[in-house]
Amino acid sequence: MKIMDKFKSGFVSIIGRPNVGKSTLINRLVGEKIAIISSKPQTTRNNILGILTEGNTQIVFTDTPGIHEPSTMLAEFMVKSANEAIKDTDVILFLVEPIANVGRTEEKIIESLKKQDAPVILVINKIDTVKKDILLSVITKYTEKFDFAAVVPISARRSDGVDTIKTEILKYIGEGPQYFPEDMITDQPERQIVAEIIREKLLHNLNMEIPHGIAIEIFSMAESETKIVIEANIYCEKQSHKGIIIGKQGALLKKIGTDARHELERMHDKKVFLSLWVKVNEDWRNKRGKIANFGFEI
Ligand code: GDP
Ligand code: MG
Repeated sequence: MKIMDKFKSGFVSIIGRPNVGKSTLINRLVGEKIAIISSKPQTTRNNILGILTEGNTQIVFTDTPGIHEPSTMLAEFMVKSANEAIKDTDVILFLVEPIANVGRTEEKIIESLKKQDAPVILVINKIDTVKKDILLSVITKYTEKFDFAAVVPISARRSDGVDTIKTEILKYIGEGPQYFPEDMITDQPERQIVAEIIREKLLHNLNMEIPHGIAIEIFSMAESETKIVIEANIYCEKQSHKGIIIGKQGALLKKIGTDARHELERMHDKKVFLSLWVKVNEDWRNKRGKIANFGFEI
C-alpha cells in the first residue's frame, strides 16, 4: 500500500527596508509578476499575497511594506501592517542589503524579531553588487546580532539563491490545509494588479517626489474573449503635479499609458484599451476616509 504524503502549508512574511528587493524576490518565488518593483522606496503600500503551490506543499507569502519611521498617516498604516505581518507567521524572511554595517532600521527590525518565536531566515540580497569578502563581513555583522535559522545570500534580480530560500523555508513548514486553489498565485483582485502596473509605469516615468502621493483607481474594467477595456483615474496631490504627469501636450501620460498597456497585453495575451485621467485630490495621504477609499484597511 502506498502511503500518501500529508499536505503541508505555511505562511511566510518577507520584511525589510524599502527598496531592498522584497517585491523582486516574491515575484521570483512565485514565478510571476504580482508585486511592482521600483527603484524608488516605499512603493509597496499593502501586503501582497504570493502563493506558491508545488506538489503537496503550499507556501503563502506576504510582501510587507518596509518598517520605517512613521511620518504621515499612510506611513503609519504601513508600519502597522509590517508589524502585523510578523505575527502569526511560520517563517520570516528578513531581507537586507549587502552592507557590512547593521543600519538603524535593521536594528529596529531585529528588536521586533526578538519578541517573537518564528524562525528568521536572513536573506542578503543584491550580492551581484558586492565582492565575496564584503559578503562575509555582512554575514558576521548580522549573525552577531541575532540567531538566524539560516543565512542565504541571493540576487533576486538574477534569480540566484532563490531555490535555496525555498529549501530553507520547507524545513519549517508542517502539515496544514491547502488554503488556496493550486493555480492561484495571488489574492490580489485583478483590478489591484492593473492599478499597481499603472503605478509602476508612473514611477518609472516620473523622476521626483510626486509618485508617493499618487493613487490609482480603476473605475471600469470590461473583459471579453479578445480584449480588455480599462478606465482609470490617477489621483495626485497638487494641481502642479497634475501638469507634470500629463506632460507637454499629454506626452508623458501617453507614454505611461502605452507602457502599462504593453505590459497588460503581454500578461493577458489580449488587446488592451486603456484610458487614463489625472485628477487632483489634495492631501489624501493624511485623510483616513480617503485612504480607506483607495482600498487600504485601517
Ligand atoms: P522593495 O521595495 O523591497 O519591494 O524592492 P523592489 O523589489 O521594488 O526593488 C527595489 C530595487 O532594487 C529595484 O530597482 C530592483 O530592480 C532592485 N533589485 C532587486 N533585487 C536586486 C538584486 O538582486 N540585485 C540588484 N543589483 N538590484 C536588485
Ligand atoms: Mg515592494
